[in-house]
Amino acid sequence: MYDFVVIGGGSGGLACAKEASQLGQKVAVLDFVKPSTQGTKWGLGGTCVNVGCIPKKLIHQAALLGHSIQDAKYYGWNIPSDITHSWESMCDNVQNYVRSLNWGHRVQLKDKNVEYINAVGTLVDKHTVKTVDGKGKERLLSTDNIVIAVGGRPRLPDIPGALQYSITSDDLFWMTKPPGKTLVVGASYIALECGGFLTGLGFDTTVMVRSILLRGFDQQMANHIGDYMSNNGTKFLRECIPTEIKKTSTGQYSVTYSDKNKNTHNDMFDTVLMAVGRNAVTGSVNLENIGVELDTTSKKVIGGYKNNSERSSIDNIYAIGDVLYNKPELTPVAIKAGKLLAQRLFNNQTQAMDYQNVPTTVFTPIEYGCVGLSEESAVEKFGEENLEIYHAFYKPLEYAMVTERDVSQCYIKLICERQSPHTVLGLHLLGPNAGEVIQGFSVAVRNGISYEGIINTVGIHPTCAEEIVKLNISKRSGLDPTVTGC
Ligand code: FAD
Ligand code: NDP
Repeated sequence: MYDFVVIGGGSGGLACAKEASQLGQKVAVLDFVKPSTQGTKWGLGGTCVNVGCIPKKLIHQAALLGHSIQDAKYYGWNIPSDITHSWESMCDNVQNYVRSLNWGHRVQLKDKNVEYINAVGTLVDKHTVKTVDGKGKERLLSTDNIVIAVGGRPRLPDIPGALQYSITSDDLFWMTKPPGKTLVVGASYIALECGGFLTGLGFDTTVMVRSILLRGFDQQMANHIGDYMSNNGTKFLRECIPTEIKKTSTGQYSVTYSDKNKNTHNDMFDTVLMAVGRNAVTGSVNLENIGVELDTTSKKVIGGYKNNSERSSIDNIYAIGDVLYNKPELTPVAIKAGKLLAQRLFNNQTQAMDYQNVPTTVFTPIEYGCVGLSEESAVEKFGEENLEIYHAFYKPLEYAMVTERDVSQCYIKLICERQSPHTVLGLHLLGPNAGEVIQGFSVAVRNGISYEGIINTVGIHPTCAEEIVKLNISKRSGLDPTVTGC
């Protein structure tokens, strides 16, 4: 008998389970990792820790460091010309760090009195969860409340050879051999981040784009990212889709693809990385049979019942994180939603999760951080005539002496209501440490800061972030937005 069973031990599930236990509930969390299509497996903690944010950011950092080594000679460092990078040693260190996080999660669950069950969870009815562990041993758990936090897994396109020969982000960070010449299929967060760091580590990398870059994001910013990546060595195949992958006798993969005119092309790669989106893994949980409403296409849980974003169509069953329909797929969103849900269920709190103005960063070689509306969404919602958009191209001081640095895409855009009080609707930043900068500004934006509130703030000199509080050229004015000097 449990008060609370959480199915899925990722970002959301672990946070929710620990919070509920701290509030005096008897809690179990189930987590089981089905191996990837290429057989990769990992430990407790879910996508973020094992095959997402953490290994991705560490490898992004590895690529940035490589670039910094090139810059260092301008700062007086004598850098030998034959510096090399070892994929094996980087991955060893990343994987050891990830394993330490797996262990840390287990210790925390124990400390917080949450029972961890390394088994697949399936619903028998609205109060019973069946668990099946790796050896096939079954248990039945009775519980008052259930949280579905099973997240998602990478999708593969339905083309010959994709299942056998391509890898996904579930495999990349655990590869023991360097990927070599790589084709990345997809053009969103995962594709551009992976394409960016692979280029930065010196691999011949091609990104195959079906339509546009970063659908849903501000397209001016997305195109600046594309330009920066192209200028820095990533190849792009625009408006192309793969149609077949074959393995050759040399061990390489022969990829056939077609362009927008339906012309067929072919190229050879050492690795094909599919980053074409993720599917919710609700299939194994038997949700539909017990009446939990799922979105028919994405198979995600539809929430929002009884005015509660995380409550499903069955009263005592909730969903958080990537598996919840129509919500941002981000770690801090899953964590916050999980904690708030536990507080509402077991501590008489009323605070709901606010899914608006969630800041995010795409960790491409030039980082892109944003909060609020894209220019397209702002125009659609408010009309162009009701907006004032301030912008600036700026040059980070750290790159000023480095002649090879391409800074033409370092850009800021602040979208405000034209009418007083000139509320800020969106802030977009391309440049170094964009995530760090936008995290700070997002506090102000979600609290309704105005344009005046931003520009009346004194800057910190010399930083990139100060360029935001100095913004004074509007797009409407047509004036040159290039920042010159101090
Ligand atoms: P998950 O973390 O996916 O956890 C679900 C867990 O449930 C998994 O361990 C799964 O194996 C387990 N499970 C599934 N079914 C069952 C079952 N029936 N029984 C038992 N266990 C089950 N977000 C950011 O905020 N910043 C980033 O920089 C970032 N980078 C990313 C990079 C990549 C490559 C990827 C793939 C994602 C990235 N994300 C990032 C997104 C982030 O990882 C997810 O939003 C987050 O992990 C979602 O958490 P979750 O709890 O919903 O699910
Ligand atoms: P998305 O669903 O965001 O993007 C899928 C991409 O694949 C699109 O570019 C899409 O193109 C393309 N695509 C889809 N099907 C095909 C196909 N058959 N052939 C070729 N291209 C195809 O998925 P991601 O996997 O990039 O990211 C999933 C989520 O993970 C994100 O929404 C994000 O929330 C989270 N994440 C967060 C990160 C961060 O915070 N930094 C980093 C990485 C992931 P089209 O536009 O034409 O449909």
